[in-house]
Amino acid sequence: MLKIGCHLSSSKGYESMGKTAVSIQANTFQFFTRNPRGTRAKEIKMEDVKRFLELAKEHKIAPVLAHAPYILNACSKDERLRNLARDTMADDLKRMEYIPGNLYNFHPGCHVGQGMETGISFISDMLNQILDPAQHTIVLLETMAGKGSEVGGRFEELREIMDRVEQTDHVGVCLDTCHVWDGGYDIAGHLDDVLTEFDRVIGLDHLKAVHLNDSRNPLGSGKDRHAKIGEGYIGAEALARVVRHPALKTLPFYLETPNELDGYAREIAFMRREWEKDN
Ligand code: FE
Ligand code: FE
Ligand code: ZN
Repeated sequence: MLKIGCHLSSSKGYESMGKTAVSIQANTFQFFTRNPRGTRAKEIKMEDVKRFLELAKEHKIAPVLAHAPYILNACSKDERLRNLARDTMADDLKRMEYIPGNLYNFHPGCHVGQGMETGISFISDMLNQILDPAQHTIVLLETMAGKGSEVGGRFEELREIMDRVEQTDHVGVCLDTCHVWDGGYDIAGHLDDVLTEFDRVIGLDHLKAVHLNDSRNPLGSGKDRHAKIGEGYIGAEALARVVRHPALKTLPFYLETPNELDGYAREIAFMRREWEKDN
């Protein structure tokens, strides 16, 4: 069965997200660990965790994907901001242990003029400080559009970070279809070539999740603005080919399209029909 879900608000806790996912025929979901533009975290309620774990088991909801607040910058120029990113993510990973066996995604960061090499070394240093051999979460580097001084717009940059991480079995990659498209990887016209390139540079075995988004901008625009499936430049057919691709079809897919629940439900239903054509 296709693993697909969408981004959900975490304001009412885990059980509420699980129920919402089930109501739209999703069997996974993504959520922010805390306010995406802030760093304050909500208290974890054990009763909520327990009820969610039961629901997740019953409805085979797994793995869920936690997303770090995107204001965090592990390669900021400012040491205090780098430490804030490190401490916040370390705390998130501790909290993830309440729901073990899931995924945690973050934007590698912006090097803000310090250069790609400096950015990459700050990010890998941070990962080496926060990854714990005993943890039950895989931390994912998200492929970025390469906007401004973003690290992660090229597969090589993610490879370079991963090469410097000691706990290799605790890191992986989340491929965002809008971001790679905006970064110049033609997943609509040359999906096989892009995946061959991903495999050559990073290794498809490190790909653990896909953010499934259309893009408001043409190939290589370097922008990062998500569109609903079929309302952007990538198109519904091309995104269905991503979901159905033999190298990807068992991965979890997460919609981050500008939708309300009913729109997500329609996109999930569409992708399920497409996936079932050859499965
Ligand atoms: Fe993201
Ligand atoms: Fe994304
Ligand atoms: Zn994005």
